[in-house]
Order: sequence, then structure tokens, then C-alpha cells
Amino acid sequence: MRDLETMNDLPKPQTLGLKPSFGFGDRLGLATPGHILAAKRGNMIPVFAQQSVREMERTGRTPKDVMMAAQKSLKKAGWTQSWGADADHLKTQQDVIDLALAGFTFFTIDPSDYVTNQADWLTGMDLQDAVEAVINAGAFESIDQIEQLYFNQTVELSDQLAISCDEREELFRAVVKYGKAVDYAAQMTTWIKSQVEDFELEISVDETDTPTSVWEHLFIALELKRRGVEVVSLAPRFVGEVEKGIDYKGDLQHFEETLHQHVAVAQHCGPYKISVHSGSDKFSIYPILGRVCRELLHVKTAGTSYLEALRVLARQHPDAFLEILKYSISRFETDRATYHISAQVENLADPIFLNVEKREEKYLDQDDGRQVLHVAFGSVLTKGRMPNDQLFNEVIMETLEQHADLYEQFLEAHLGRHIELLSAG
Ligand SMILES: [Zn+2]
Repeated sequence: MRDLETMNDLPKPQTLGLKPSFGFGDRLGLATPGHILAAKRGNMIPVFAQQSVREMERTGRTPKDVMMAAQKSLKKAGWTQSWGADADHLKTQQDVIDLALAGFTFFTIDPSDYVTNQADWLTGMDLQDAVEAVINAGAFESIDQIEQLYFNQTVELSDQLAISCDEREELFRAVVKYGKAVDYAAQMTTWIKSQVEDFELEISVDETDTPTSVWEHLFIALELKRRGVEVVSLAPRFVGEVEKGIDYKGDLQHFEETLHQHVAVAQHCGPYKISVHSGSDKFSIYPILGRVCRELLHVKTAGTSYLEALRVLARQHPDAFLEILKYSISRFETDRATYHISAQVENLADPIFLNVEKREEKYLDQDDGRQVLHVAFGSVLTKGRMPNDQLFNEVIMETLEQHADLYEQFLEAHLGRHIELLSAG
């Protein structure tokens, strides 16, 4: 009974609406105090509980663990302003039920299992057959309907930008690539509605094989609308490389041009926010994002807070940091599988031959090292052990609890810089 009372006493997340917002994923459950300090550096509404189902599986945490860790810290810090809780990358009905039960209010639907990436290479009869298959799956009534909706229909996105699809192949490819995915997203929305009264929705198509073109974005948005699905944000896949844990790679001018187009679609079809996944450490594009998206911006970060936790170990418990490095390197080829990264283990110096400072620099400040640590977090937190058999997880938790001030300081500096640059744009 007492447990229930304290739970009711904890601060509850709210929906954020169309205000700029920033997601602070916390894989360890100890980062919220530092995230609070970082959030105070700008005016983006913080999402203090945010974890994908995949991350929860990898860290052995439940939705309730994630929620409670944030809530307890918020209560302790006396946080009274609004904050959000993002059930990230939901793929199944069970995901929806689990996260709804834990009190999440922001639902990120990931229909990527229904995205057909091969559509980009289909032609002729193969493409025609694939369109028929999408119709048979119930996403459309007929080819006639598809053509009436989209073929040669000009959409005026803004004074400067009008889009129309006047090539059948282009239209059919979008239908094949995203038709079933949008239909599934609509299905997931009904599941969420049956579980939660007050919620907001994001649709993420950031993990597709190729960047989302402006026409594809428009197609997805109009198809969502046709099904009555209202989103607060949408995550496209951007041009260039948006990899985990490191800065953006690509042509900044091209990024800005295409971002203008995405924002125009979001304004026209919503308005809703443009959501940037793997949004940590993208320092070179933050001013552009802030300037072009203005209010219509959501950014998600997660693994970078884990890397700052390892920085505390690098300083305060260098032996453990070395063991975690060796273990993460040994796990790399397996653990990298589901992540969008380009790190090469061959580029890395063996940590045994580096002194303490160099080890931190190579593995926490340089790209290859950061990504190697970034993808191994699940193995490190659930399986890895010190030579004396103690779990890394225990060592990390103990060290962070002993040096809570330092962890807060690192998080405030690192994520505070994110927020300042985004706000400055
Ligand atoms: Zn994502």
C-alpha cells in the first residue's frame, strides 16, 4: 500500500504539443539529475523518460524501471514544469500495451518492418505486381484510387515550393515502399487509443535504407491524414549520414535545403515537428535545425549519456574502464549489427598500450572509439564482468553513485551544449 502511495505521489509526464522538445534517453537510470541541469540551459521541453523497446531488451530494464528512474529524480529535484515520456520505436501491439501501462504519453510508432526498401529498385511488371500486393493487403482500394489521389496532383507546400508526382514509377515505388507501413501505423494508433486517453504520436521512418525524399515524406503524411492519424512529429531519414554518437557527416548546404522541404511538408500536412533521431553529438547541424525548424523540432538522444557515464569511470575507476573497453571491442562485430555506424576496429589503438588520458581521448572523444562503446552498451550492462567476476553493471552503478556530482557535471556540459546550439539557431 505504501508503495502505491509513493507512486501516486511521483510527477507525471504530460503531452508536449507543438513546442520544441528534446529527448534525454537514460540507459542506466541515473542520468536524470544531469539531464535536468542540461534542460535548464534552453527552452526546449524535456522528455526525461525515453527508451526504445530494443534498448530495454538490451539493458534488461522494464518500461516501469525507465519511468520510475526519471520520476524519482524529478521529484527529488523539485521539477514542476512539463516533461514528456517517450515510448520509443514501438513495433507491436504488445509493445504498446507494456509502455501504456507504465504511464508513457508520447508514442513513437516504428512501422519499419512493413517498409519495403527494395521498392527503389523495382521496375516494370515487378513493380506492378508489388503495387497489387499492397492493394490486396488492404492499404488501397485500387490502382485507380492511387492515381486519383496522387498522380499529377500538385501540392503547393509554400509560395516557393510545389510538389507533384508525374511519373507513375515514382508514385508506385512510394506506394510499395510505404503503403503497408502507413496502414500498420494506423492500426497501431487504434491500439494506443484503446489504452491511453491523453497521448501524442510520432511516426519514425528514420531507419530505412535510403534518405526520405520530400515526395516520400509528403506521401507518408498525406496517407496518415487520409487514415485520420494525427502526429505531433515525424522522423524522416535525412540526407548525409546521421550515425550514432558522432557528428553529422555530409554536405551541410544540401542538408539545409532538404530540411526546408521537410519542414514545408510538416507545416502543410500538420503542422507537426520534424524529429531527429540519433540526435546526439550532431553539433554541425544544430544551428541549422534550430533556424530552419524553429518551433517544429524534436531531437532524441540516448547513448551519449552512457558515454558520459563511462567518462566518469575513465577518470575515477580506470581499471574498470580498461576492462569495459577490451570487452566492448571484443563484442563489436556482433553488437554493431542493428546500428547505423561506420566505425572500424582496425582504426583503433589497443587500449592496453595507451595511458589513461589517451584512452579517454581515443575512446570517448574520437569517432571510432565512441561508436565501439556506443553499440556494446547492452552487452556491457547485462553480461560483461571484471576479472574478479563482478558484473560491469555493478561497478558502473557503484562508481556513478559515488561520483554523482561528476556525472551531473559531465552531462550538463555535454547535453547543455546541444541545447544551447539548438536554441541559438
Ligand atoms: Zn530512431
